[in-house]
Amino acid sequence: MSVTTGGDMPYRAPRLFIGGAWRAGSAETRNPVINPATEAVLDELTHASPRDLDDALAAVARGFKVWRATPAAARQRVLLQGVQNLRAQREAIARLLTLEQGKPLAQARMEVDTAADMVQWYAEQARRVYGRILPAPQPGADYEVRKEPVGPCLLMSPWNVPVILAARKLGGALAAGCSCILKPPEETPASVAKMVECFIEAGAPDGVINLVFGVPQRVSSHLIASDVIRKISFTGSVAVGQGLAGLAAPGLKRLTLELGGHSPVIVFDDADVDAVARQLVVAKFRNAGQLCHAPTRFFVQKGAYARFVDTFAAAASQLRVGDGMAEGTDMGPLANGRRLSAIRELVAATRADGTVVTGGERVGDTGYFHQPTVFADVSPDAKAMRDEPFGPVALIRAFDTPAQAIELANATRYGLGSYVFTDSARLQRQMITELEVGSVAINSTVVTVAEAPFGGVRDSGYGYESGEEGLDSYLHTKFVNRNHS
Ligand code: NAD
Repeated sequence: MSVTTGGDMPYRAPRLFIGGAWRAGSAETRNPVINPATEAVLDELTHASPRDLDDALAAVARGFKVWRATPAAARQRVLLQGVQNLRAQREAIARLLTLEQGKPLAQARMEVDTAADMVQWYAEQARRVYGRILPAPQPGADYEVRKEPVGPCLLMSPWNVPVILAARKLGGALAAGCSCILKPPEETPASVAKMVECFIEAGAPDGVINLVFGVPQRVSSHLIASDVIRKISFTGSVAVGQGLAGLAAPGLKRLTLELGGHSPVIVFDDADVDAVARQLVVAKFRNAGQLCHAPTRFFVQKGAYARFVDTFAAAASQLRVGDGMAEGTDMGPLANGRRLSAIRELVAATRADGTVVTGGERVGDTGYFHQPTVFADVSPDAKAMRDEPFGPVALIRAFDTPAQAIELANATRYGLGSYVFTDSARLQRQMITELEVGSVAINSTVVTVAEAPFGGVRDSGYGYESGEEGLDSYLHTKFVNRNHS
């Protein structure tokens, strides 16, 4: 079977990479990799057997000994070379990504750029992992605080933004001096494997990066049970995150969990309503709404409400839905059949709690396409207001006072991103203080950047990625009392 990636190379599902060598997984299970735009099977992915996983554990333990002893400047050189390779492979990776995940090619290219930027920041920071010397109370002594890599890490990333989410974890772990076993999503494996290849070819020593695929539950339970793994970083759903926290508990392993969100948008009367509505349509329907920080619940002050709904719905209805490989596509299919079913159910259930202003239907009967869908006047009690849509559905509701906006915004168990549109410094301050979230964008739709920590509260998880906090999550702190007398 050979599906081309757009006139150049054929699509091939990747193999596992363990201890410096590529190998086919030796488990009996396999999974098809499906193009969500056509439902065609691109290839079959082999899975790691328990023996493969044990080999990966042995390799990552060996890799850690080598990498932790590698000077930070040398680690930085490998990472920066990997970033350069990644930029050189931009087009090839973007095409794999669009084929297996569905997003428009322009967005896939942007994803590779962002992944490169995020790893570059970590690479630059690798030489700035500082300790401290503290004044000791007794003569002849120094108190030292040192930062050390936490150990071999298990990194598990999902299918929605597969290149960025895997690269961000890999960059943080490697910059800190940790080795890793990366388990990317089985549904979008090739784009991630090609990204990983960039860092292998840059000179990461054998065992420092290991790549496995499999039945997720089997892989995670096998690896987390091993004493070798000292830290786990997972991005995905709340239910899986809770399960992983349970698996990590007996070994008291460090955990970073990024478990999605249901991000509120608060638009006050003084905002430039038309411009803000159009800007938010781009943010909402990027990646067909399958972003953990996507704006989802839109609360608009009464004076701006009618105009906001009209402009937002008009812009949403003009988005061109189609195969991400086709020129001019604004929104591709949902990434898999599960998402299409989930969105259709959510839309059907929400019809009783709000008004469909545009969209509401599946597009065609082949491929997982769904119309950009906008609901207005949505009841705060609607199930959709509580459960993360993770798809192309926008829920809009009016509010009167700032206190009402806060109450509506905080009324989910999630707390990841949030977006506020007003020029009032007083309102900005109130929103920043009272929103129960991990990040707030004011007059902007950007809540995650390479330099700043990204993480959530409540059901959105705990721990941080990117920024100093992201790097610190791969380090532990050692106190040394050095007595010279
Ligand atoms: P899911 O809960 O089955 O899987 C979510 C992710 O976790 C997938 O990447 C999957 O491979 C992985 N996974 C599942 N079970 C695992 C296990 N036991 N150990 C390790 N990894 C495991 O759901 P899904 O249908 O793939 O996605 C649906 C929901 O997941 C969405 O509604 C969304 O809430 C959430 N999600 C969140 C993000 C995010 O960026 N936070 C990304 C993707 C999915």
